[in-house]
Amino acid sequence: MDTQERLEHLQNVLRERGNRLTPQRVAILRALVSDKRHPSAERIHDVILPDFPTTSLATVYKTIALLKEIGEILELGFGDDGSHFDCRRPYPHPHLICTKCGAIMDSEVDNFQNLIDSLASKNGFTVQTHRFDIFGLCPDCSGK
Ligand SMILES: [Zn+2]
Ligand SMILES: [Zn+2]
Repeated sequence: MDTQERLEHLQNVLRERGNRLTPQRVAILRALVSDKRHPSAERIHDVILPDFPTTSLATVYKTIALLKEIGEILELGFGDDGSHFDCRRPYPHPHLICTKCGAIMDSEVDNFQNLIDSLASKNGFTVQTHRFDIFGLCPDCSGK
């Protein structure tokens, strides 16, 4: 799904739920779906401030909370280092995280779901969700 389609999808879902779509909220949604780098709420706030200077960080968090409620955003919490968000792919998927520059990259592999399923069934475990983070150095930081 491209950025524009994803934005329209979110607007439709929110409209059908009766949520108000202020220009400010649409700007927050656009910033979230446009950013491939797993932004923090602070980052989204910085992006929309030039156009909406009165927007508070709390307003950004409110929109994110709403998206979480309807399962349209994935939150990656890092304890004291805060949270980053993926509004482009709201379902669990593997991430490659650079310990030097903080870059968070998406990666898809074939058979990932099979791995989860076999780990679960081997242990009689019923999966609700999962999180798979790989820590290391991104190509820029490792000089490759
Ligand atoms: Zn890096
Ligand atoms: Zn992601």
